Amino acid sequence: MSMVCPQDRTPISYLDLLIRVSMAAASRSYQLMRPNPISTGGRWPCAAILAFAGLCPVPWLSSALGDTAAFSGPAFLEHVRYLASDELEGRGLGSRGIDLAAEYIAAQFKAAGLKPGGDDGTYFQWFEATLRRDLSPDTRLEFAGVAGLESPKLGADFVPMSFSGAGDFAGPVVFAGYGISAAEFNYDDYRDLEVKGKVLLVLRFEPHDENPEAKFGGGVYSQHSYHNTKVALAKAKGAAALLVVAPPLHRTEPDKLADFAAGNTRENYGLPCLQISQELADKLLAAGGLGSLESLQKQLDEKRQCLSAELKEVTARGEVKITRVRAPARNVVGIVAGAAEQASEYVVIGAHYDHLGKARYSLPRSDQERADQTPHIHNGADDNASGTAGLIELARRFASADPPKRSVVFAAFSGEESGLLGSEHFAGHPPVPLSEVAAMLNLDMIGSLQNDQLTVFGIGTGQEFEDLLGRLAGSCGLRIKGDQAGIGPSDHTPFYAAGVPVLHFFTGSHDRYHRPEDDTPYVNAEGGAKVTGLVCAVAAELAAAERRPTYQKVEQPPVARGGLKVRMGVMPSYADDDEPGMRITGVSGGGPAEKAGLLAGDRILMIGPATVNNVYDYMGALSRYNPGDVVDLTVRRDGRDLRVPVTLGAAR
Ligand SMILES: [Zn+2]
Ligand SMILES: [Zn+2]
Repeated sequence: MSMVCPQDRTPISYLDLLIRVSMAAASRSYQLMRPNPISTGGRWPCAAILAFAGLCPVPWLSSALGDTAAFSGPAFLEHVRYLASDELEGRGLGSRGIDLAAEYIAAQFKAAGLKPGGDDGTYFQWFEATLRRDLSPDTRLEFAGVAGLESPKLGADFVPMSFSGAGDFAGPVVFAGYGISAAEFNYDDYRDLEVKGKVLLVLRFEPHDENPEAKFGGGVYSQHSYHNTKVALAKAKGAAALLVVAPPLHRTEPDKLADFAAGNTRENYGLPCLQISQELADKLLAAGGLGSLESLQKQLDEKRQCLSAELKEVTARGEVKITRVRAPARNVVGIVAGAAEQASEYVVIGAHYDHLGKARYSLPRSDQERADQTPHIHNGADDNASGTAGLIELARRFASADPPKRSVVFAAFSGEESGLLGSEHFAGHPPVPLSEVAAMLNLDMIGSLQNDQLTVFGIGTGQEFEDLLGRLAGSCGLRIKGDQAGIGPSDHTPFYAAGVPVLHFFTGSHDRYHRPEDDTPYVNAEGGAKVTGLVCAVAAELAAAERRPTYQKVEQPPVARGGLKVRMGVMPSYADDDEPGMRITGVSGGGPAEKAGLLAGDRILMIGPATVNNVYDYMGALSRYNPGDVVDLTVRRDGRDLRVPVTLGAAR
């Protein structure tokens, strides 16, 4: 698996990477099949016939659930058709479409007879989400000591990068090559260079190598070329700001400033980072006595020596002004109350109903798509109108059946696509005590069933899960590909991190994933209904069982994330709050963080000397370490700051 998109050689996002990693993990997982428990002589006919008919017999359930356990494809499709319609605009955070979706789900819960499970007796659980950061036109950049240079123009000569930190800066300008320190390639732009309080001018990417197989500067760039690596390094060295210029050689496209708003502006690397034009860079370098950008690049690429130097008497000052755009978001929560002693225990069934909204191509396939600025509706039929449809049908089924022993909570989450915001909020402000949640079942992308093959993540998080699914899957006409992992790129993760056994039902990825083509005509509604039938059977059994499933921590195989060489073994929170540090949502079993005693809920304030305020700082700070390094973490727990040494593990 490559860490970079081959098309544009930019690092793919962390969440994106996680989903790819999970998918790769799924293909490594084992098959889970048990002999079919249903005899042909009993009440139910041959399971093979049922499987063919897409029915799901579950005779061991309470009568009403069991009698009508086959879910209908057309009913499933009706929800998908509405939720994924253009009218709902792709259900992006802060849009009218997502409000319509929330109202629709609440109306369905109400019509089914669910009790409201949200704030103040409503179906809604509200929270705030950062939609994006907007660049103010007052943003400025000025230079002194450059004869004949008018003040550079925002958008024409310079532009902050989408991950830029906000704030003002001033300092002498230093050319720092590619801004890379790579001991393993014997390359260091920071050799004998003092950059504290200085404004660095660096080339983008890494020194070009004619050999496409080269590990540094070859066909696939190394992690040293990533913006996050360079920014973290510059920050750690105390730079005041980073000016980035495209290398004039070996790149065919014309020098073009990137549009701030086109990137993921929720990323904030915490240092002013501005792209400047080659023309401006040339003027600065000439004034500073360093010659032309082209000649500097040529020497760097060929000789790979450190050419870093201060630009004589050239100083820069400026301010990046950014406003954070926040919007209210809401989970939709309804409850079917249990009837027995165990009614104060819960099974949570969840699915996210948000998607990418109206946006540029998030996974462009061509230069044309990459350049396309038009917002396209990302209808998100499989992701995740399908899971939401399953959730609604399950709510209707449970509400109309005999009451289960345990209560069942139905939660439609918002903000999943922005980093599990809704499920994190739910787990952080649970409407029912999390300690009383017996299990959490997550439906994310259940609308593209093929060959009756269903992937289920989290099998290892409950001791009884393998047996349970083995018994139920066959009778629902499904073959299960099980994966142990409880941590993954979807809403079950915050529950697993809080000690709840979880299962994530997933019919697999496809080339429409996160693309406008993920639309209703491609949804396999009969398949979705079949998966819903299995979830119904699993939920019914969990709600009725004498004992709750036994929670197990899963040792997850180390995976390379964002090009990191090392692994800490924590699930970082993406929630954008104003508190210092980065909150840890969970700690993976057997990982370095767990061994060091880190706990879910801890906030990492510092990694070694580097301040950490969000997941990007965290990744950047880690990028400087090697497996086996012992790094001192400053961690805030219950208002107290602790120093915790962690021995970093190796990413694969
Ligand atoms: Zn999803
Ligand atoms: Zn998604």
